[in-house]
Amino acid sequence: MRFERRNLLGLEELERGEIESILDTAESFVEISERPLKKVPVLRGMTVVNLFFEPSTRTRISFEIAEKRLSADTVNFAATTSSAVKGESLKDTARNIESMGIDMLVIRHSAPGAAAYLAGVLDCPVINAGDGAHEHPTQALLDLFTVRRRRGRIDGLNVLIVGDILHSRVARSNVFGFSKLGAAVTVCGPPTLIPPGIEDLGAKVSFDLLEALPEADVVMVLRIQRERLGDCFFPTLREYSDLFGLDEKKMELAKSDVTVMHPGPINRGVEMTPGVADGPYSVILGQVKYGLAVRMAVLYLLSGGELSSEDTY
Ligand code: ASP
Repeated sequence: MRFERRNLLGLEELERGEIESILDTAESFVEISERPLKKVPVLRGMTVVNLFFEPSTRTRISFEIAEKRLSADTVNFAATTSSAVKGESLKDTARNIESMGIDMLVIRHSAPGAAAYLAGVLDCPVINAGDGAHEHPTQALLDLFTVRRRRGRIDGLNVLIVGDILHSRVARSNVFGFSKLGAAVTVCGPPTLIPPGIEDLGAKVSFDLLEALPEADVVMVLRIQRERLGDCFFPTLREYSDLFGLDEKKMELAKSDVTVMHPGPINRGVEMTPGVADGPYSVILGQVKYGLAVRMAVLYLLSGGELSSEDTY
C-alpha cells in the first residue's frame, strides 16, 4: 500500500490512520542512523530542494541529513542569499527551481499557507517545514513518535502544551496530532497567548500551570515567538517565567514519570530552566534524534514508497 497524499501540508487534513502509517513507517528508519554506513539508496537519483525563507537549525539540518541518508541529491536555499532579496516572488522562485527537474520541495516560510500555495502551483510533492504560525507537521509527527516510543502509547495520555500557543505552529500541529491519536490535550499560557477558538480544535484551556501540571503525562514547553509578537502580550519576561516557566520547583508537582518536551530552540531561563531541559524527564534530544527517522519516512512515502513497518531498505 502506498501513502495516498501527494504533499505533507499539515496534520489538520490527515486522518488518524494516515498519521499512524507515517509513524509506523518511521520505525523502520530509526535503525539506519545507527548503522556504521548510514545510507540507503531509497531516493537515489532524486533531487530535493530545501527552500528556507525563515531561520532554522534543527529542521533544516534534519531534512538535509534525512535526504542524504536516503541518497537524494540535496540543494539548500537560504532566502537572504537568493534573488528573493531582489524582489522575486515565491511562485517565480519555486517554479524556476522546479524547471531544473527537482523531485521534491521542502519549504519553510513566514506566511501561513505558503506550502499549500506552492502545492497548488508545482507538480512535485511539497513538504511544509513550517508556515508562519499555522502548521509544522513534521515537528508534530516527531513529537508523536517520541511519545509513542517513550510511553508505549498515545491513546489516553494527558498532554499539556505550555507557552505561546497563539503564535505557535508547533502547538497547532500537535493539538491536531495528539487529539486525533486519542490523547487529551490541554493548552496553558497567559490569556493573551491563547488563541480564541482553540477549544474547537479539540484542546482544553488552562491559565494556571500549577493547576494543570499535576495531571499531565506529557508536558510540551514552547518558546515565546518573539519574532511574531507585534504588541505587548505580557508585562515582562521575568513575570512570564515566574508563572509559566518550568523549573525544578514546579516539577515537584508533576507526575513521577512525566515526559518533558521542547521543540527547540530553548530560551533557557525563560520557558524552562537548564535543570529541567537537561533533567531526567527530558526527551528533548530524543525528539531531535527521532526527527530524522520521521523525515526520512515522510520523504520516502511522498516519493512513492510503500507503507510499511517491517521493510528493511
Ligand atoms: N522550531 C520550532 C518552529 O520552527 C519552534 C520554535 O521556533 O519555537 O516553529
